[in-house]
Amino acid sequence: MGKEIKINNQVIAPGEEALININVGKLPIGHRIYIKVNVYNAEKEGPVVLFMGGLHGDEVNGVETLKRAIHSGVFKDPDCGTVIAISLLNVYGFLNFSRSMPDGKDVNRSFPGNANGSLASRVAAVLSRKILPIVDFGVDFHTGADNRYNYPQIRINPNDDTSVELARAFNAPIYFPQNVIAKSFRKTAKNQNIPIIVYEGGEALRLDEYAINVAMEGIKNMLSYFNIKSFQPTIKEMVAFDRSSWIRASVAGLFNSFYKSGQYVEKGVPIGSISDPFGDSMRIVSASRDGFIIGHNNLAVVNQGDALFHIAYHNK
Ligand SMILES: [Zn+2]
Repeated sequence: MGKEIKINNQVIAPGEEALININVGKLPIGHRIYIKVNVYNAEKEGPVVLFMGGLHGDEVNGVETLKRAIHSGVFKDPDCGTVIAISLLNVYGFLNFSRSMPDGKDVNRSFPGNANGSLASRVAAVLSRKILPIVDFGVDFHTGADNRYNYPQIRINPNDDTSVELARAFNAPIYFPQNVIAKSFRKTAKNQNIPIIVYEGGEALRLDEYAINVAMEGIKNMLSYFNIKSFQPTIKEMVAFDRSSWIRASVAGLFNSFYKSGQYVEKGVPIGSISDPFGDSMRIVSASRDGFIIGHNNLAVVNQGDALFHIAYHNK
C-alpha cells in the first residue's frame, strides 16, 4: 500500500491525484499569486520524485517541458511512488520576463527562505517547508542566462554516487559535477540528504525544441528507471565530464562563432573571432583545451571578459 501525501494541509491518498494551490502573496493589483503543485500518488509505495521548472522565472524551457508533461498525462496513474510536478515556481519572474523577483532578489540565492521575509525568501520557504521534506530526490530544470545557450546537460553534486545514479537514469547527453551554491535550492536539499540534479538546456526567454525534447525524454527515462511508470527508454551514450570552464573575450567587438554547443574541440583550434566594427582588425578565439562545448554566447557584440564558450573536459 502506498502512503498518504500531505501538502499545505491537503491530503492526497494512495491512488489519488491533486492540484494544490499554495498562496504566496498578492500582486499590487490585488490578484493572489499561487504556486501550483500537481501531485500524482500511486496505490503502491515507491519513491517521491520532484520535477520543478521556473525557479528562475525567465528560464521557460523547463516550464514548457513540465507543462507538456502534465498536459499529455506523462505523470498520470503512476505504478508506484509519487510524482510532484511544479511547472512554474517563480510566478513573479515569469510575469516580469526576469530570473529574479520584483525586488531584484534571486529565489535560488534565498534558500531555505523565510515565510515572513522578502518575496524571494517567501517563495523559497514554500518549497523548503511544504515540499522538500516529503521528497526523496528530484530534478530542477534551468536554462542558460539571456543570450547564453546551454547544450542539454545535467549538473550533479560533487562526490555523490546517488546524484550520478540520477544523472544516468535521466540520460541527458552529458553530465558533470558542479559545486552547490550557497543559499541555493540544491544546497538546502543537499543539507537534508535529498539529492537534486539540475538540468540545463537552451537559453532564457527562448523555447528550444531540442532542449525541451531531451528534458521530456529524461523525465520518462527517470520514471522508467525507478519503476514509477514505464516508457520506451531512449538508448544513448551519456558522457561524464570532470569539470568545465569558460573561454572569455580578450578584446571587445563583433563576435562570430565557428563552433556551437554540442561539438568537440581540440586545443588551439580557431572556434570564433572578435573584430572591430570597421574592418580594421580581427582577433581569433582559440579553444583553450580539448573538450566539449556545453554552452555558447549568442550575443553579436561582446565586451572584454564576456563569456564566449563554456567547455566541459576530463581531468588529465
Ligand atoms: Zn536558472
